[in-house]
Amino acid sequence: MFDIQKVREDFPVLRQIINKKPLVYLDNGATTQKPRCVTDVITDYYLRKNSSIHRGVHFLSSQATVEYEKARETVSQFINAKNKHEVIFTSGTTGSLNMLAFSFGEKYIKEGDEIILSEMEHHANIVPWQLLCERKKAKLKVLPFNDDGELLVDQLEYLITEKTKIISVIHISNVLGTINPIKKIIEIGHSHGIPVCIDTAQSIQHVPIDVQKLDCDFLAFSGHKLYGPTGIGGFYGKEKWLEEMPPYQGGGDMVDEVSFEKTTFNQLPFKFEAGTTNYIGAIAMAEGINYIQGIGLSNIADYEHELLEYGAAKLKEVGGVKIFGNAFARTPIFSFHIENVHPLDTGMIFDKMGIAVRTGTHCAQPIMQHYGVDGMVRASLSFYNTKEEIDYLCTGIEQVKRMFL
Ligand code: PLP
Repeated sequence: MFDIQKVREDFPVLRQIINKKPLVYLDNGATTQKPRCVTDVITDYYLRKNSSIHRGVHFLSSQATVEYEKARETVSQFINAKNKHEVIFTSGTTGSLNMLAFSFGEKYIKEGDEIILSEMEHHANIVPWQLLCERKKAKLKVLPFNDDGELLVDQLEYLITEKTKIISVIHISNVLGTINPIKKIIEIGHSHGIPVCIDTAQSIQHVPIDVQKLDCDFLAFSGHKLYGPTGIGGFYGKEKWLEEMPPYQGGGDMVDEVSFEKTTFNQLPFKFEAGTTNYIGAIAMAEGINYIQGIGLSNIADYEHELLEYGAAKLKEVGGVKIFGNAFARTPIFSFHIENVHPLDTGMIFDKMGIAVRTGTHCAQPIMQHYGVDGMVRASLSFYNTKEEIDYLCTGIEQVKRMFL
């Protein structure tokens, strides 16, 4: 499929010793590590190429502008957008969803309208909509999931009313690893004339995404979970919506003509990119996309599925571990409890062993409420992880059990 040892060499951070133990990085749901080609692009830009985009006629500015727009082309092809001006650079998934909630909300939401989310959303796909609901006196409705971590999609028909204005759902759960049937959700939404947004923060790096095939109206993702830098991400919107939606922020670059009496706005995508954007981040994110495309998204999905099956079997063998979520379709994210041990204690013992996992509520408190727990331990894997690292995670669990029994 691909040479895992060769791939790991591309990620210098993985070769580190932490607490006198080789690092086993299993916190990829929070952020992925960066291949050297991405950090090289960033260094090269700051050392040799830095210049503001869309602002000057001089060589460096023109070069940066060309490469920034090339990065947009890369993202656009990666998600198969029909037009590259449907891709907006933002600060990340949070930035994208706030922009959508504000801008779509300004245009289309009025008192009494309804917005449908799912029970397994990350806070980034809850709070911006809640703020909008408070502003406009609109209402949130929630599509539940079962204890296996599968959305009860059939209930969507009952939640939808003539007041429903938008559906916004997570593609892959950052806690349960569930791959939600977004195509079906989009079809149901569209059969009622309702646009659908998908949060692909946890999916775009794991499974191929084609916005035209999915026919989603909006999509949000983060560069730092896609082997790129922090502070950059993307937002996709169908042209027909983006043309109608008002700007989110005002400032330089998003305008056409400005006077104290009136301002007219720039064309797409610039209407939504106010101020000096993170252009180096965008260029480096595109490098990250090129890197994983070099490995092949379907190779990545196959290998990660192997890790999922191996990990699920191993964790079962270990015993005394309760795994949350058991969806039929999922990615290698294991959120669990070791019996009678607080997740924070587990995390701290793992850390002493060089194992990096996430502990806490994973920015998804409604999921914690569903299962009646105040936190979980989460091991989230990437294509650079190995079966040996899963074995070592199990050794860590045995160690925690020994210490607490
Ligand atoms: N949505 C999901 C599913 C996530 O997992 C995350 C981050 O963990 C976010 C949104 C927010 O992403 P960011 O913090 O990069 O904006």
